[in-house]
Amino acid sequence: MMRTCLSLLLLLAAGHCNKLFIGDQVLRISPESEEHIELLQALENEQYWELDFWTHPVSTELTVDIHVPYVALTPMKEYLTENNIPFSVMINNLQELVDEEAAEMTMSNEMERSSKAFDFGTYHTLESIYSWIDTLVADYPTLVSKEQIGSSYEGRPMYALKFSTGGEKRPAIWIDAGIHSREWVSQASAVWMANQMASDYGSDSTVKKLLDTMDVYLMIVTNPDGYVHSHTSDRMWRKTRSKNPGSMCRGVDPNRNWDAGFGGPGASQNPCSDAYHGPHAHSEIEVKNIVDLVKSHGNFKAFISIHAYSQLLMYPYGYTCKHVSHQPELDTVGRDAVNALSSLYGTRYKVGSICNIIYPASGGSIDWSYNLGIKYSFAFELRDTGRYGFILPANQIIPTASETWLAMKHLMVYTNEHPY
Ligand SMILES: [Zn+2]
Repeated sequence: MMRTCLSLLLLLAAGHCNKLFIGDQVLRISPESEEHIELLQALENEQYWELDFWTHPVSTELTVDIHVPYVALTPMKEYLTENNIPFSVMINNLQELVDEEAAEMTMSNEMERSSKAFDFGTYHTLESIYSWIDTLVADYPTLVSKEQIGSSYEGRPMYALKFSTGGEKRPAIWIDAGIHSREWVSQASAVWMANQMASDYGSDSTVKKLLDTMDVYLMIVTNPDGYVHSHTSDRMWRKTRSKNPGSMCRGVDPNRNWDAGFGGPGASQNPCSDAYHGPHAHSEIEVKNIVDLVKSHGNFKAFISIHAYSQLLMYPYGYTCKHVSHQPELDTVGRDAVNALSSLYGTRYKVGSICNIIYPASGGSIDWSYNLGIKYSFAFELRDTGRYGFILPANQIIPTASETWLAMKHLMVYTNEHPY
């Protein structure tokens, strides 16, 4: 019903048949006991209300953000009240935020067309990101190239930018953004950072030193099908777009699909779940393409994935709360990176293993890379901590990217200075 377009007029106005979130709210819930957590976990398996968990119930230390469709608001609030679980309204009408974002994007993209200058402070479609990639490569031909590492399920090219000053298979750093398509500040920050890395090579001695010895691969849109779908059909789309035999629901969570504790805690067997792990490890072509590239290259020293939101810098593992053997070193590097990040605007980040600071999550990319022997494996969750969640206003893109770049540089320089 929510998928149906309201009228032809609306259809024409939007140009697409977008899923609507009129009157939907995002509730911020504060569980106070184990019983509360169990009551919230029970809702994760409840399908009738079509709840969309933006964060998950794991401990009384963490709030749980749930996007509740309008029709489920009354029963949901009754459930919370009856069980004495405290909550507040984080987003009052999700459609309003989505509309504001779309209006901002239309206006900025219009101005871009007339000024012919790329605006890093707005969100972009896949098409305009891909065309900007060509501009970057044309502007820095001796530093940046574009490598197509394969195609997505729906046949879209998957591009990695390669920053290299020469040499054969130099030690390298992998960075990916947007594996979860709705986390738009991730792709937008990656665009900004790619531009910064290219322009800093000539002016920042630390970047020059880094790129004179190492290569950096940066994939801005790791889930292109999902990204397009989040623009044209459903702003809240997170997964890939592959078909699931025997199910009406499409897509696999590409960050539960890696061969690292596959099918374990924090992943779902249900194809309709946003955390569906898929039929087998690396079933998703988008994941398989990266696995093949990283393995055939054989000389990656760091693997960094960029997500949103929650303001966290995490290291392995997600599939178990057992510490990795390099935990003390990864923790120190992570803390120093986050201190660099905070130095710009005071934004506060938490550091820890995925399992220990958020929740058990199996089949994640950085657990896979770590187990492959890539010691410096990290994942970012960018801004914010839950005022806007996935719909972070565009005026926060450049501040987010700028502060993240400081942490990223720390991780890359540390990797370069501590060979193993
Ligand atoms: Zn994510």
